[in-house]
Amino acid sequence: MKDHEQFPLIPVKRAQGVWLEDYDGKRYLDAISSWWVNLFGHCNPRINAALRDQLDQLEHVLLAGFTHEPVIELSERLIRLAPAGLTRCFYADSGSAAVEIALKMSYHYWRNAGQTNKTKFITLTNSYHGETLGALAAGNVALYKEIYAPLLMEVISVTSPDCFYREAGESCSDYSRRMFAHMEQALEKHAAEACAVIVEPLVQCAGGMRMYDPVYLTLLREACSRHGVHLIADEVAVGFGRTGTMFACEQANITPDFLCLGKGLTGGYLPLSAVLTTDEIYQAFYDDYATRRGFLHSHSYTGNALACRAALATLEIFEQDNVLENNQQLARAMRNASAHFADHAHVAEVRQTGMILAIEMVLDKATRTSYPWQERCGLRVCQHALENGVLLRPLGDVIYFMPPYVITPDEIKHVAEMAWRGITLATRD
Ligand code: PMP
Repeated sequence: MKDHEQFPLIPVKRAQGVWLEDYDGKRYLDAISSWWVNLFGHCNPRINAALRDQLDQLEHVLLAGFTHEPVIELSERLIRLAPAGLTRCFYADSGSAAVEIALKMSYHYWRNAGQTNKTKFITLTNSYHGETLGALAAGNVALYKEIYAPLLMEVISVTSPDCFYREAGESCSDYSRRMFAHMEQALEKHAAEACAVIVEPLVQCAGGMRMYDPVYLTLLREACSRHGVHLIADEVAVGFGRTGTMFACEQANITPDFLCLGKGLTGGYLPLSAVLTTDEIYQAFYDDYATRRGFLHSHSYTGNALACRAALATLEIFEQDNVLENNQQLARAMRNASAHFADHAHVAEVRQTGMILAIEMVLDKATRTSYPWQERCGLRVCQHALENGVLLRPLGDVIYFMPPYVITPDEIKHVAEMAWRGITLATRD
């Protein structure tokens, strides 16, 4: 908050498409989709119309003992879209809550199955799953987690397949495959006490947009099944086309036991999240009341009708507009606009998975030595961009583009140009 003495908060008056506008009429291009939530632009006419219509019918009703058309339709649609075998939906209101639900449901499933020794979770280093205590414990980014360590459950931490660390000349797929040995070892050692492995498929977003190859997920699915451990795919950030496919898991051709969705689910309009799971998991809880096997977890706004309607309008846009195919061109435009960054003296890597492109700055390119964190190099890049009408936010010294899918190739060039100027200024010796 104290930073804002120097950099005042920006009050946004209105927004349209990729553009935000403040009270002085200054415009900012939202190149990070307002924290990765917005898919089809701000004030999208089709989502707006759906919400107006919904508003006159039903805004909200509790989802216990009652149901409504938007939540039924949304569940049916999500199941049609998701990897085969995911047939049940559980709703909440944030990505963190979705993660909590998946963790609890996995543990509870094993308990209902008589496996009371399964109480632990396996997670990757550098992962991020949210801020509530369970999700924070499952994550691994020290910046968010360290201070709260005494409050958090212990997890089994496995070295990430983060391809930033691959050897020179080694492919991402070879490295991801090689790093899987750590996971195999952990599963061999801990299967008896592990409920689930939780991962962010393909991109560890909050951990600096670090990426790995789909082969890791294929190996992980096979190993989890072999060891009797669930697989939780946290696609809160990477779902809904961010990695090039509707869901990142598709690129590995796998079905997780739990799929956590949030953020883009409503096109960036309203807080809604979902956990999709299998019939097998569902059946482990389905019993007479007296057996006390039920999953007792509820949030006041679970399955909110307006949010579900926004999600339906969002999925309709995917269906009607050939979004994933069109995004391939945008992804190419992002790649082309940023290719020269790799030659910058203080850029260690430019990496991309679908509609996520990240630029990693370093003090020393040869040794990949980081800037001292106190220098806040990434922040300075973003401040420069902001002054010039482009909204970026740093993840440490990583600058990334994760724009709404309605951005144009020219706007992409503009974003890259502002990032380039910011990087050049911030890294000047
Ligand atoms: N999981 C992942 C992978 C995320 O990136 C995030 C948010 N950045 C969350 C969970 C938490 O979502 P929320 O902020 O909606 O609680």
